[in-house]
Amino acid sequence: MNNDDFTWANALARPAIAGFKAYSARGASTDALHMDANESPWSPPPAGTRESEYNRYPAQQPPALMNRLASLYGVPAENIMLGRGADEALDVLLRTFCESGQDNVLICPPSFGYFDIAAQVQGAAIIKVPLTTDSGVDQTGVKQALKDNAIKVVMLCSPNNPTGNSIDRAFVKTLCADNPDTLILVDEAYVEFSPHGSLCDMLTDFRNLVLTRTLSKAYGLAGVRAGVALANQEIINLMLKVLPPYPVPRPVEQAVLKALAPSAMAVHDARMAIWQSERARLLSELPKTNLIESIYPSDANFILLKAANEDKLLSSLARFNIKIRDFRSKIPGHFRISVGMPEDNSLLLQALGITAQEAKDVRVAEEFRTTKETDISVRVNLDDPSNVSIDTGLGFFDHMLEQIAKHGGMGLTLKCAGDLHIDSHHSVEDTALAFGAALKTALGNKAGIGRYGFVMPMDETQAKVAIDLSGRPAFVFNGNFPSETVGEFAAEMCPHFFLSLSQALGASIQIDVKGDNTHHMIEACFKGVGRALRPAISLGPSTDIPSTKGVI
Ligand SMILES: *Cc1c(COP(=O)(O)O)cnc(C)c1O
Repeated sequence: MNNDDFTWANALARPAIAGFKAYSARGASTDALHMDANESPWSPPPAGTRESEYNRYPAQQPPALMNRLASLYGVPAENIMLGRGADEALDVLLRTFCESGQDNVLICPPSFGYFDIAAQVQGAAIIKVPLTTDSGVDQTGVKQALKDNAIKVVMLCSPNNPTGNSIDRAFVKTLCADNPDTLILVDEAYVEFSPHGSLCDMLTDFRNLVLTRTLSKAYGLAGVRAGVALANQEIINLMLKVLPPYPVPRPVEQAVLKALAPSAMAVHDARMAIWQSERARLLSELPKTNLIESIYPSDANFILLKAANEDKLLSSLARFNIKIRDFRSKIPGHFRISVGMPEDNSLLLQALGITAQEAKDVRVAEEFRTTKETDISVRVNLDDPSNVSIDTGLGFFDHMLEQIAKHGGMGLTLKCAGDLHIDSHHSVEDTALAFGAALKTALGNKAGIGRYGFVMPMDETQAKVAIDLSGRPAFVFNGNFPSETVGEFAAEMCPHFFLSLSQALGASIQIDVKGDNTHHMIEACFKGVGRALRPAISLGPSTDIPSTKGVI
């Protein structure tokens, strides 16, 4: 540690914080016999919680979770402080650096309401530089305020809650460079939704830059309470002295690690794509009602609007039991709407009289499957084929699954992390089981009605496929592959995949395949199954069984 740096951060902190030594809570439990922390030697009931170590205090910053967050945010673990939400990170930042009755913070309202509260609780005076009328930060005003006042922390939010605008990167850079004794906080609670990306790459250049990030919004963990401050290590170390002991309960660590498992990341990606396209849909549809005067562009998962008729807007939404955020106490006539699932947004547009038709149920299902051999997440969308992303680590198998999605007319996001160092068996089988289960859930009560078939010619090959979504699994396969493998894919895994699929989906699948080329034969099976599934999952007016073309 460089001595100058140490002096720099300590000099900024409240003298009381700089002056004491951190409470020495016990570190993570080791394999020693622990008789040091007055804990219970027994794990709590019910039986089976032994591995959870609920009877042992957790580390202040649990290493496995910190490593996961380090890779998620692309910042070394020693530059991260994890607390009960970004809210706690903001609170701890001000408690570490703002002396009550003495230090000032700068805020650009309207912005995140908790900025004011955290400052007031800590007794810091608030200097306000309001956003400009087009809701951008008043850059000249902020620079001037920093010249006129001693300011300890500038509290910015990008994208800003509730206006949805992002702050210019170059402006933050200038602020950091020109005000070395002021902490420049940028709350990035919504940055995952923004096309502009995080400022975390600037942390190495500016020791006075502090970012906050949260798992509450983009990662769906608001009820778990986990958020971070990202900053220079000296700042983090001072904040860790203020952060209460054991702020990360073991169930929180487990829940976050599960939600951020490698196999879950494809699900987050698929949801983000939906979120962004739904935001675009609302931005283009909402102006069509005369209940709304204007809407603001947004880089986040919400939209701020000014009502033309406040009472009518609220009563229209109340009829559909839809609640939006009322901002009128802060900005006259304004409300904020969070972007929901596609069907939620359709209901909103219906409530506002923008669309007449009944909101359609979107048939989406997710399946997570974790065993000793594989870690799988699958998301199928039977009503929107636009999103197909597959990664099993087996190139040929990915290509085959794409064929099912494409020819079946469904969206499919699938990630499998399996024991490929042994062979592909578990990955292929477990993928079939998870995919079949997701399909079954997405089909809901429409399963069990259809019987479909398809003949798939491919060069010299022909595959005949018949599927009956009867609810009763059965599998018949006729075919001999001329070679044992295609690339790293064992040909015998082709019938095995469909056997497992038939079991998990509750379907009778019959395949007849003839040909001279194993690649073509396998591909024809996957395409044919996709084609046979297509009418089974379509909700079109004609759900008749198509011409059987000699099969069934
Ligand atoms: C929601 C929100 C937070 C809170 O994050 P938690 O991690 O849930 O505490 C922080 N900042 C802004 C701007 C928010 O909108």
